Amino acid sequence: MNIAETPPTERRRKALQAIKELGRQRSDHAVLRVRCPKSHTVAAVYKTEEGPVVVCGVGPGGHGSRDREANNRGNDSLDDKFIDTVEATQFEDDELPAGCGCGPRTLSRKKLQAAVAGHEHVVTLT
Ligand SMILES: [Zn+2]
Repeated sequence: MNIAETPPTERRRKALQAIKELGRQRSDHAVLRVRCPKSHTVAAVYKTEEGPVVVCGVGPGGHGSRDREANNRGNDSLDDKFIDTVEATQFEDDELPAGCGCGPRTLSRKKLQAAVAGHEHVVTLT
């Protein structure tokens, strides 16, 4: 995929598809995890055929008990996550929406790219 020439909506659709294709062994393909100070996973970057793709958690609202009941095939749902390639066009915002049980967070694409390029495996937010 040519990131510079792919519209963002199309790029995110492809990113989601690439993540789905990793299937249940998705965690085997994780190259980077972003954690909060309480060790919750805020986001993870996976190596896919479309390049590095980030899956962001979205704060405490998305995981109520009612949601879990409606979704008892496991907590692997991608519906409440923000998923995109780590790389984006120069015209887009550097900030990605993410979060964990502690609340919403924003992540920087540039910092994620630098961490992936630097072969870091875990980034802990402060
Ligand atoms: Zn947290």
